[in-house]
Amino acid sequence: MTDNKIDILSLFPEELGKVLENEPKYRVKQLFDWLHKGATFDEMTNLPKKMREELQEKTYVALPQILKKYVSKVDGTVKYLFRLFDGQCIESVVMKYKHGNTICISSQAGCKMGCKFCASTQNGWVRNLTSSEMLGQVLVAQKDTGLRISNIVLMGIGEPLDNYDNVMRFLRLVNLDDGVNIGLRHISLSTCGVVDKIYALAEESLPVTLSISLHHSNDKDRSALMPINKKWNIDELLTACKVFFEKTGRRISFEYAVIAGVNDNDEQANALADLLLKKLPGIPFHVNLIPVNPVEGTGFTSGIKNVMQFQAALEKRRVNATIRRKLGSDIDASCGQLRRQEMNL
Ligand code: SAH
Repeated sequence: MTDNKIDILSLFPEELGKVLENEPKYRVKQLFDWLHKGATFDEMTNLPKKMREELQEKTYVALPQILKKYVSKVDGTVKYLFRLFDGQCIESVVMKYKHGNTICISSQAGCKMGCKFCASTQNGWVRNLTSSEMLGQVLVAQKDTGLRISNIVLMGIGEPLDNYDNVMRFLRLVNLDDGVNIGLRHISLSTCGVVDKIYALAEESLPVTLSISLHHSNDKDRSALMPINKKWNIDELLTACKVFFEKTGRRISFEYAVIAGVNDNDEQANALADLLLKKLPGIPFHVNLIPVNPVEGTGFTSGIKNVMQFQAALEKRRVNATIRRKLGSDIDASCGQLRRQEMNL
């Protein structure tokens, strides 16, 4: 940020201890607890005023500011448009599932990946989010809704594996026992296929769920939809998935946005089944079918009948497939669209 101040919410307890080397240990713990509840310095009432003033001079808390908030009357889904310190806007969504409350967070302001159906990338990439800005989305949403969030999906704006170091730090911070304490098994990281970083992730000993945005089962069509496929093709991507499973034991999840007339016929369902069964023999995986969110300028739509037919065709081949339930239908705006509106992009 400005003034070379320390981004205090991005620090692990031992690093915080170094910043506060003149304070007793219990003060460090008190500060950590406040920070990870999403508190501002003014709210940290059990810390001496002098300490708070010093903190304010030397450090800052990178909490996003709620610019807009939409609550679904249908199912309670909450969508936030957040403003970051430099005016960049990002989005997060809190969804209530039977298995717990899930937040979908952003990892970058904008995106470089250029997927043709995605709103987040249409105006390019501006910057990476810091670990504290990712954590801040969870903290502010938790504080604002009063809900305990138990699951995280990195499926908002941005490509998490293109912001690797900050995302790794975020995963470790949000997992801390004394912090938000969300189990890594309850976190899904979604990628369009940054293969070198999938190998790196496999070495981290972080048992997160890896979600691969596949969307096509042949290279020609996938490259037309997702430029990353020209750098790493489907074969290279699935080989990396295999290694990720071997290292972590975690089942792989594949996302497939079913787009009318593009990738949704029976032949394409069978080609997808052939591909996954052949490349990942004996490896547990799951296909998540997503009815595509219409994004202005793309012309892409989904026919729900086709989505169901696609699922049936996969199931026939014994490929486990579910259709993503659409939450918050009355506050619908696919990810990245609020940011575009707000920032006049
Ligand atoms: N960059 C990461 C994570 C963000 S996108 C990734 O590519 O996986 C999260 C998911 O939403 C991805 O599967 C992405 O392909 C999908 N997605 C993007 N735009 C969409 C749209 N208009 N309709 C449906 N899914 C979309």
